[in-house]
Amino acid sequence: MYKITFASGNMHKVDEINVIAKDYDIEFVLPDGKFDPIEDGTNFLENAYCKAKCASEISDTELFLADDSGLCVEALNGEPGIRSARYAPTPKERINKLLDAMQNKDNRKAKFVCAMVICDKNGKIVFSVQKECLGSILKEEKGNGGFGYDPIFFVDERNCSMAELKKEEKAQVSHRSKALREVLAWISQNKL
Ligand code: IMP
Repeated sequence: MYKITFASGNMHKVDEINVIAKDYDIEFVLPDGKFDPIEDGTNFLENAYCKAKCASEISDTELFLADDSGLCVEALNGEPGIRSARYAPTPKERINKLLDAMQNKDNRKAKFVCAMVICDKNGKIVFSVQKECLGSILKEEKGNGGFGYDPIFFVDERNCSMAELKKEEKAQVSHRSKALREVLAWISQNKL
């Protein structure tokens, strides 16, 4: 198994990614030391790079992968965007805040975005990708699956909310899995 550091403190995320990566003979591992990146980028790619670079300074693999993701709403000028995780203190409060902000909006178009960056030991970017999942903001929550904004995000491709999809179905359409598939293809072509 070819090991790559996944620049995150989130065990669930790394587990999720490893399920898809198994077929590629790649194992993602969390950083060795205390992982505490300063995300001061102005977009998803810059913030993913902040995480990858931080991991490259504390861990000892050849490559370092990081992601950054969020929900961008057209009528709110792309908000919450890179602030999606900090839009309000809890997931429930974040959903309610967004539903309130969208109360009188006719244009409900939105997209989930995921940027992924791979850098080497010297912190140099060797691959980057950004993928989207298109949809709109529902007027109320639907479904119990997924996490975050999933219950209020209607997925164009599937005609239902993201939270109504099974795990395997979300893995086919989500911004994160689309980006990850490109990452895995690049790694298998270039490093294995
Ligand atoms: P990060 O990429 O871990 O910084 O997370 C960004 C935030 O965007 C998450 O905390 C969620 O609020 C939101 N988000 C990102 N991807 C998804 C998703 O697939 N479903 C629902 N919310 C998401």
